[in-house]
Amino acid sequence: MENRLEKIKKQLHSSSYKLTPQREATVRVLLEHENDHLSAEDVYLYVKEKSPEIGLATVYRTLELLTELKIVDKINFGDGVSRYDLRQEGAAHFHHHLVCIECGSVEEIQEDLLEDVEEIVERRWNFKIKDHRLTFHGICRNCHNKESTTKDANALNK
Ligand SMILES: [Zn+2]
Ligand SMILES: [Zn+2]
Repeated sequence: MENRLEKIKKQLHSSSYKLTPQREATVRVLLEHENDHLSAEDVYLYVKEKSPEIGLATVYRTLELLTELKIVDKINFGDGVSRYDLRQEGAAHFHHHLVCIECGSVEEIQEDLLEDVEEIVERRWNFKIKDHRLTFHGICRNCHNKESTTKDANALNK
């Protein structure tokens, strides 16, 4: 945690920004809730628990700055809410997401898996790819298991 905070501090410095206490509070929340895909309001509520003097506008501005510097990625899973996701250390590409349409759970895929697709796109459309977003919408392992258990139970009752 302190290690990653230190790295983020360096990333800010290299773009001539300081890790102010307000920014640090925001980054800490993101690190503590790394897998939670928090919205700006969610981040603000956590920040407020420890630093009630920090306002929503400040948190919002910090998130925008972190997005600009590619420290976090802003993502929308189709529910109209922007969520903020820390980029994996040193990752050139943003990780992929599996979003369950039944329970809303979000799983992450850190492997890139898209090298071949990118190569085809770059060649055929003469387009230099810098990044991509990939979200799969479907039914997660848990919901899938639940579904087949209910089906089995129904079959037995017939
Ligand atoms: Zn994610
Ligand atoms: Zn599910």
